[in-house]
Amino acid sequence: MKAVYHKKEDCSGCSACYSICPQQAIAMKPDEEGFLYPEIEEEYCVDCGACTAVCPLIVDGSYKETGTPDFYVARHKSPSVLRESTSGGAFTAISEAVLRENGVVYGAEYDETLRVRHRRALKREQRDRLRISKYVQSDMGDTYAQIKADLQAGFTVLFTGTPCQAAGLRGYIGNSSLTDSLYICDLICHSIPSPLIWEEYKRLLERETGGKLVRVQFRSKKYVWSRENSNKGFLYGTDNGLEQEDDRFYQLFFAVGAITRPSCSKCRFTDIHRASDLTIADYWGIEKYSPDWYDPLGVSVILVNSAKGAELFEQCRQELVTENRPMEEALAEQRRLREPAELPENRDVFWDEYHKFGFDYVIGKLTK
Ligand SMILES: Cc1cc2nc3c(=O)[nH]c(=O)nc-3n(C[C@H](O)[C@H](O)[C@H](O)COP(=O)(O)OP(=O)(O)OC[C@H]3O[C@@H](n4cnc5c(N)ncnc54)[C@H](O)[C@@H]3O)c2cc1C
Repeated sequence: MKAVYHKKEDCSGCSACYSICPQQAIAMKPDEEGFLYPEIEEEYCVDCGACTAVCPLIVDGSYKETGTPDFYVARHKSPSVLRESTSGGAFTAISEAVLRENGVVYGAEYDETLRVRHRRALKREQRDRLRISKYVQSDMGDTYAQIKADLQAGFTVLFTGTPCQAAGLRGYIGNSSLTDSLYICDLICHSIPSPLIWEEYKRLLERETGGKLVRVQFRSKKYVWSRENSNKGFLYGTDNGLEQEDDRFYQLFFAVGAITRPSCSKCRFTDIHRASDLTIADYWGIEKYSPDWYDPLGVSVILVNSAKGAELFEQCRQELVTENRPMEEALAEQRRLREPAELPENRDVFWDEYHKFGFDYVIGKLTK
């Protein structure tokens, strides 16, 4: 086989194909925009078709649940957890239920060089590093294979990630009895930005400050939690003692829109039928529908998508205040439950200019 996919819009980079290949003939390699794509080493490929058979963008139904989810508003009972979470702390409560039973939690964290990677957490301190949205596509590495090994070793596993990563995991694991101890929780996902531009941005901050970045945080609660403030509050710290705020990466992501992965524009996961047991996100608009629920520290929406999701939700309710809500509220507020992201018409101009003139040039245009 020459390729797993034909057009970039048809590959989300979930890495299920890389993980399933019995010949290890697939490597995930960055393209000129820094997004990972599978490359087949033809001399090792035996044309077995395992890669395309698990691809969630090829498989009909994309491993989705068929029923209608139950929708809940939820908020963690602890204000300190709310402060350290992006939304209403749903992830902490869900992961707590798994850690309590000596299970394993997977999610996205910053590594030593502040690249975003999926990692495994057995302890609370490790889990805490998975908290807070990182607006950069995470490198899955060998996460799916590690999860399988954990399940085979008898662990209960919680995987958290974007909807395409969740679907990739379902494809990779298949329908074996291993799935009995696997819980999958995805996010409602706006779209995912380029790891290459993230690297450029970090280098820019280091050049400007003359220090080494030691800390970064999207969606800090410096401002009250609200949709309007959701593109504010990116904080960073350097080893020369600076603690500052900057919004240029947000601008590239949300306003310019050019740094989004091409496949996000054809996302198969922008509806209520999820390839997960639970889905978590911000409960935008709760102040209109039920003002008493609004909390300046954050509020979550939780979609309970499956019987297993309901079971896990029950186990984490002691940490949360919750209420069943009409589906129409989240549907009205969350575009990504209705349609994929639109790529800007001038997306190619951004990348041409970046490749010709460099990052300082494209970022400089934001402030002109
Ligand atoms: C790229 C991205 C786009 C999003 N788009 C929307 C949106 O359009 N609407 C909306 O309401 N919510 C969106 N969210 C979800 C929202 O920002 C919160 O992550 C979610 O509500 C969980 O918050 P929390 O307080 O429960 O958990 P937190 O404690 O903040 O936990 C964050 C969770 O997100 C996971 N995560 C963080 N970064 C990544 C990443 N790069 N890739 C995969 N998983 C990651 C972690 O593993 C963890 O499970 C998005 C999140 C991301 C990462």
